[in-house]
Amino acid sequence: AAKERGRGRCEYFAPWMGERSRRQVLLERELRQALARGELSLAWQPWVAIEAWEVVSAEALVRWQHPTLGWVPPSEFIPVAEKCGLIGDIGAWVLQRACQEAQTVLGDLRISVNVSPVQMMHAGLVDDVRRALAQSGLVPERLEVEITEGVMLDATPTAMSNLHQIKALGVQIALDDFGTGYSSLAYLRRFPFDTLKIDRAFVRELLGYPDARAIVRTIVELARLLGMQTVAEGVEEAAQLDVLQEAGCTAVQGNLLAEPVSSEALRRMIDGWDVGTRPMPVDAMAA
Ligand code: C2E
Ligand code: MG
Ligand code: MG
Ligand code: MG
Repeated sequence: AAKERGRGRCEYFAPWMGERSRRQVLLERELRQALARGELSLAWQPWVAIEAWEVVSAEALVRWQHPTLGWVPPSEFIPVAEKCGLIGDIGAWVLQRACQEAQTVLGDLRISVNVSPVQMMHAGLVDDVRRALAQSGLVPERLEVEITEGVMLDATPTAMSNLHQIKALGVQIALDDFGTGYSSLAYLRRFPFDTLKIDRAFVRELLGYPDARAIVRTIVELARLLGMQTVAEGVEEAAQLDVLQEAGCTAVQGNLLAEPVSSEALRRMIDGWDVGTRPMPVDAMAA
């Protein structure tokens, strides 16, 4: 009941509220209905293995299409959901839906699902994961959970216990957005991550700075020594791919290779994929 009251508190407009908080209040109110109205969906973005040049996994990205607001990006509504206690329901839905689509549409492809630091702090998360696997029939080995370093920043006992329990189910764990925050290297020792995802901001700077190549090569090598694979996010240019390939990065993700699409479209993309051939965009071939 206290939780309900706490939630209700945000649900009014007041003259002193700026545009930003009005939008937040609106989003919060609409987000409460979004699940029931079936406004949420998933988009899938593949991970393409370097050298083998095949799709080895795909990341589920939540999408919200509101009847009048249109597409609201996750960068806007996930923080709202985290603040207003809706992330638990949304997160559970994403897990459930992702496992189900993977099992029914994506053959034997591996998948990854983003889990918010707020979800990670709740003991119910492990049951959500277990239920999503059981109800879909997906084997745990096909699932990977992506967490950001926000989780490691606090490293609360509940969060660490959740991570270990999820890993014990046979699910893999990826550290997302690596290279953007503080003392990232220290987090690598606190948990045996399976995958290190190099953040888009880092990939973007690859070509502009002379040291960037050396840093990426070092990250990839360190990850390898620690038994982790590396996935570079937000690869948009062939020249970035060159550097990542040279550095020995395991896989790449980004609009150069494929934008996020529905599971059916991803399935068609994979079926038509030219395995073993490095994807080259038209402008790169002209260069
Ligand atoms: P993320 O997990 O780091 O996901 C990568 C984001 O980069 C996605 O944005 C993706 O569409 C975008 N992206 C991929 N390739 C490129 C590229 O080449 N160029 C550019 N400019 N962008 C690219 P999206 O889908 O808007 O998601 C943003 C963030 O929202 C995600 O970052 C993740 O932190 C969060 N998010 C998305 N879906 C979920 C979810 O189901 N649950 C939770 N808790 N968070 C989610
Ligand atoms: Mg992610
Ligand atoms: Mg990321
Ligand atoms: Mg990122």
